[in-house]
Amino acid sequence: MTDSLNSYAPPTGDMSAQEFRRFGHELIDWISDYFERIEELPVLSQIEPGDLKAQLPTAPPQKGEAMSDIIADVNRLIVPALTHWSHPSFFAYFATSTSAPGIFGELLSAAFDNKAMLWRTSPASTELEEVTLDWLRQMMGLDAGYSGLIYDTASVSSMHAIAAAREGVELRIREEGMSGRTDLPLLRVYVSEQSHSSIEKGVIALGLGQRALRKVSTDTEFRMNVHELKRAIVEDKAKGYIPFCIVATVGTTSTSSIDPVPDIIPIGEEHAMWLHVDAAYAGSAAVVPELRHVLKGCDRADSVAVNPHKWLFTPFDLSVLYCRHMDLLRRAFALVPEYLKTPEQERVRNGSDYGIQLGRRFRALKLWMVIRYFGQEGLAARIREHCRLAKLFASWVEESAEWELLAPVPLGLVCFRACSGANAEDPRLRNRRLDVLNEAIMHGVNATGKALLSHTRLNDKLTLRLSIGNIRTTEKHVREVWELLNQQFEKLK
Ligand code: PLP
Repeated sequence: MTDSLNSYAPPTGDMSAQEFRRFGHELIDWISDYFERIEELPVLSQIEPGDLKAQLPTAPPQKGEAMSDIIADVNRLIVPALTHWSHPSFFAYFATSTSAPGIFGELLSAAFDNKAMLWRTSPASTELEEVTLDWLRQMMGLDAGYSGLIYDTASVSSMHAIAAAREGVELRIREEGMSGRTDLPLLRVYVSEQSHSSIEKGVIALGLGQRALRKVSTDTEFRMNVHELKRAIVEDKAKGYIPFCIVATVGTTSTSSIDPVPDIIPIGEEHAMWLHVDAAYAGSAAVVPELRHVLKGCDRADSVAVNPHKWLFTPFDLSVLYCRHMDLLRRAFALVPEYLKTPEQERVRNGSDYGIQLGRRFRALKLWMVIRYFGQEGLAARIREHCRLAKLFASWVEESAEWELLAPVPLGLVCFRACSGANAEDPRLRNRRLDVLNEAIMHGVNATGKALLSHTRLNDKLTLRLSIGNIRTTEKHVREVWELLNQQFEKLK
């Protein structure tokens, strides 16, 4: 402790305004420095499991500690245990990043600490959410018949969409549940085998059971096979099952493939099924006018999930569910005890009526600030550049004899592998050898700390994924990772 401001918490009340101001400024400086030096830090945390825990006291502090000591420990302990998603050479999973206006939005939201469960507990959050989501809807070219609602993640958005779909089947599941009922046939949800695991988790959480999920095969470009979908529904109906929901994916996790929503629409309509579109990743691309086609057909879907926290530079977490049947969503979840009744409830939207959460964070603020600061053109320019960089990287892969693409590159994700250096007549044996080689290449690149890649499996081939979605990523970073990959290849082939 070097001066009076470096003090401990007072006996009652919060930190003094003077201290708050000082450390607030210090932390903003800290964040600016962090972004300036982030490229010096290893992208993937270099600690071993348990390293951080071993350095933390097992018991809580009895007396308050000085803020300066706490910040010192952020530097000493927390930063080394971070995997730096904001590093421009983070290319793993779906690379996503925060942005300055988004950080300011989070900061203010933490200060306001509104719990937007009812309109009156946060009119600002409720109304800003409605307006901001309507802006985003317009930016993506979605129909005005959609209302938007913010949840934390796409997993939760999609689960709520499936719950609303089930509510529409009129089986009194809300009232009577699903267990112990002999009158209830198997309810079915259809996805492609490339759909995200969150849909299956949603089905589990809703008590439908894993056997309710029917996985339909995909074509050579990893898109849902529509003929098989049709056949599966007819077959299930003949068995007395109730097909009630199709989940199409716009931007699958492994390859960013786009299910043929315009062809799926008539199937859903014919069988009176709910069509939910998981556009968690690729939905943001529709902000770019020439990429708007990714959401083609989605205007006739019943719901669409989009994640601004994936590719719209909004800090985690913020997922949007666009839904045409808010009445069903409300019917599935609204439960208003006496202590939550308000005089204006018939005239306003109370967020807690549309999901399992009561209190809801003021997430709209950060999205509003991101959209205002960058504008639609600014957001589109950044996403467009990511797609250009992905195509550039893909062109290097295609031109090289040592590497091959394993999926089309419609957006910012490249699926590829090293394909030479494993000679074997038997294709399966060759693939196994290439699996070993590519896994070693990926771990080799990741171990340098200079870039981070992840993998998937396509057609039984271990596939490297390079995802470009970080606001700081430039061509220089993409060139560097290509060099790193080639260095590892030369070393390991
Ligand atoms: N859907 C798709 C297509 C995804 O790629 C992901 C995550 O990458 C999710 C859903 C789950 O996202 P969240 O972490 O927001 O639940």
